[in-house]
Amino acid sequence: MLRVRPEKIARMSDEATTPRMETAGSDGHGRRDRSPREANKDERPSRAEVSNFEIVDHWFTLAADRLEIRDDVRAVLSSSYREVQVQIPASLSDGKIHVFSGYRVQHNGARGPYKGGIRFHPDVDLDEVRALASLMTWKTAIANVPYGGAKGGVNCDPKKLERGEVEKIARSFMDKIEKVLGPTRDIPAPDVGTNAQTMAWLMDEYGKLHGHAPAIVTGKPIALEGSYGREAATGRGVVHMMEQAAKSAGVKLNGASIAVQGYGNVGSWAARLATELGCKLVAVSDADGAIRNDDGIDADLLHQQVSEGRTVPEFEDADAIDPADLLATECDVFIPAALGGMIHEANADKVNCKLIVEGANSPTTPAADSILADKGVFVVPDVMANAGGVIVSYFEWVQNLQHFRWTEDEVNERLGNIMRAAYEAVADRAEKDDVSMRVAAYAIGIERVLEAARLRGYLTDTRVPAGD
Ligand code: NAD
Repeated sequence: MLRVRPEKIARMSDEATTPRMETAGSDGHGRRDRSPREANKDERPSRAEVSNFEIVDHWFTLAADRLEIRDDVRAVLSSSYREVQVQIPASLSDGKIHVFSGYRVQHNGARGPYKGGIRFHPDVDLDEVRALASLMTWKTAIANVPYGGAKGGVNCDPKKLERGEVEKIARSFMDKIEKVLGPTRDIPAPDVGTNAQTMAWLMDEYGKLHGHAPAIVTGKPIALEGSYGREAATGRGVVHMMEQAAKSAGVKLNGASIAVQGYGNVGSWAARLATELGCKLVAVSDADGAIRNDDGIDADLLHQQVSEGRTVPEFEDADAIDPADLLATECDVFIPAALGGMIHEANADKVNCKLIVEGANSPTTPAADSILADKGVFVVPDVMANAGGVIVSYFEWVQNLQHFRWTEDEVNERLGNIMRAAYEAVADRAEKDDVSMRVAAYAIGIERVLEAARLRGYLTDTRVPAGD
């Protein structure tokens, strides 16, 4: 008999009671595909119209089906604990007040304080932040770091704002959400469009109200109690996953060709560290375009130029290509490291690699995932592949709480140990249950969250009883 103490668990949000999308059929592997088929028919190179929340909810549902989780428990796990939306009016250099929307969504805190990045991007909305918060719950559980899942964002475009304007928005956002944050409550980190400088402003603003509290955010600059190795961590983790998966995918890493979509923090670190292992970077894109050079692109030089303010297509020692053709580049490993929904039903068939390691969050729609499975492409899913960032964020938080600093070697070694353990656990489970790495990863994440909820006394039983 299930007993849920509703006052202790999440309130039921609209998703919990809203009927799900029509099932689009089975892909022949027993996986029901709930992604809207009509939305992605065009040949757009950019993002699919399937929403980020629908993508995460789809994988959650597949794993919950396998685990025979009861509907009322699913309703708790598929909705957020708390969703905060705030208005951020800011006077900008055009002399006008611009009103931005800021969000912080706390999805599930059974395993520890909420943890998740803050995104500054014009496409940010509640659906996206909600999806990314849920993803963080499963990601922290799979990596086995003691956190729950959260995410935040502001729908501003930092590329069109002056530095002082970004600072103003960041500080105002912190002022409005600080009541739901705290070093033992909810700890933000960088994501798309934010970086160590943004984290420094957020920490400083929080400190004005609460005193110096470096553990309030992670991903800070080294000079402000940031951790060695945090900046590279997500890309480094992606490369660990690539190394682990190479054998199963039939890829020989020394000399392997890689293509990278998005050359920001995650993409550029993954590319630079992969080339250190002997891989050859053959194609890269960013929001402004794409380039290709089958003889190899100098990942360090490209990074240097991008950090000086140039775009990827401005790189001289490569040919400009249509960004839509990046996916079609023949290569061993493709690393999506930009935004969600970039590999969708209309372009997945073009994918021409053996292995995809998902650096970005939700880069692949469910329909695209089925196409990739049919093509025999081995996929290491986002929910484990890009966990390196939150793992080293955890190390940073631990160092901040102890006021003690680890060396970069210590950080990197511990990161490698956790990534390898996560990969082995998921690969074993995928083999045992005869499911994809993604479904196996979600199943492990869900089980760990449920165990924590049970031990706290929030739930007694979660499975559908036999004969129900
Ligand atoms: P970033 O802002 O540093 O870089 C994003 C990159 O994507 C930029 O090069 C941008 O030009 C590019 N981009 C944007 N739109 C594009 C498009 N349509 N086509 C090709 N490229 C495009 O962000 P980041 O921190 O590197 O994050 C990238 C992805 O990784 C996101 O999905 C993020 O959620 C995920 N992620 C980041 C971290 C982290 O620690 N930073 C951790 C886990 C997951």
